[in-house]
Amino acid sequence: MNKVYNFCAGPAMLPVEVMQQAQAEFVDWQGQGCSVMELSHRSKDFIQVAEQAEADLRELLAIPSNYKVLFTHGGGRGQFSAVPLNLGGKQAQADYLVSGSWSSAAVDEAKRYLTPNVVATSRWQDERLVVPEPKEWQLNPNAAYLHYCPNETVDGVEMSEVPDIGTVPLVADMSSNILSKPVDVSRFGVIYAGAQKNIGPSGLSVVIVRDDLLDQSMAHTPSILNYKILAEQGSMFNTPPTYAWYLAGLVFKWLKAQGGVEAMEKRNAEKATLLYGYIDGSDFYQNRIHTAYRSRMNVPFQLINPELDKAFLQQAEQAGLKALAGHRSVGGMRASIYNAMPIEGVQALVDFMTDFARRNG
Ligand code: PLP
Repeated sequence: MNKVYNFCAGPAMLPVEVMQQAQAEFVDWQGQGCSVMELSHRSKDFIQVAEQAEADLRELLAIPSNYKVLFTHGGGRGQFSAVPLNLGGKQAQADYLVSGSWSSAAVDEAKRYLTPNVVATSRWQDERLVVPEPKEWQLNPNAAYLHYCPNETVDGVEMSEVPDIGTVPLVADMSSNILSKPVDVSRFGVIYAGAQKNIGPSGLSVVIVRDDLLDQSMAHTPSILNYKILAEQGSMFNTPPTYAWYLAGLVFKWLKAQGGVEAMEKRNAEKATLLYGYIDGSDFYQNRIHTAYRSRMNVPFQLINPELDKAFLQQAEQAGLKALAGHRSVGGMRASIYNAMPIEGVQALVDFMTDFARRNG
């Protein structure tokens, strides 16, 4: 088989070493004669797997002790409901920044439970997409929290600074950039992420929640989404997604072996610089996000001549460069270059783009 690089936005490629380890352990985990998937979530062995994964994640992100870490279900969208249900019990109003498609979807879901106030929306300025600065945001003084999405997967918009908005709890959907760089967890009330980009298989969500926010839920919050219940039960109120949790644990070990999130940040910066640098130097391709907000994880780009899109995608696929089509809502191309994408994969993409432009320019 030719070398394949998968640029899918999610589910995304996992580190090859993790896949190999999972394969080797699949049927017979640690000589037990069964798969980790077949273990009771309440067994000593699985609890050890679960606790180790949490400890490794805590170490990777330096999560302070006054935060709970939940391994739960429902992916990213599950948290679009869980956040208002868990934090909106006292003030049924909350602030939302709309910087792209996913934060907009989070607002739509929040409307089912409380009154969201959109503090600002990203906009086109001199033909570049920009996110308004926090000083422009129209904050609601009675908001229970402010929700934002630091990396918009569809739009390729990333906010590198954590906004300073005073004491209101900051809630971040880090589905597509968690673990891609260090983050000061203490700046946040809640961080959540669907797992299928930088953590592991889809369906799993990881939630990091500050202790004092565990008693702010609405009365009708389903137990299955209730942070306090999940925290009190060590994420084992129901049967959690055990195999996904185990795989997440392997990814955390891999990250530690790579040098942690500091090493990832360096590598991700190199990959992004290579790809954006090529696009910016070309008159065949373009990226329309303002340079201050360009994502290091998801790089959307367009061919100047969109009639060539189909041929580009077909030939890229034949060259082993998979899943480069942009999100169905925006079209064009998108290369998702999460932690597991090696620099060689980005170089292979740049080489292909160079060759395609030469043949079709
Ligand atoms: N938030 C972000 C930033 C995403 O990229 C996605 C999915 O790609 C979601 C939320 C939704 O996640 P899920 O499909 O796991 O519900």
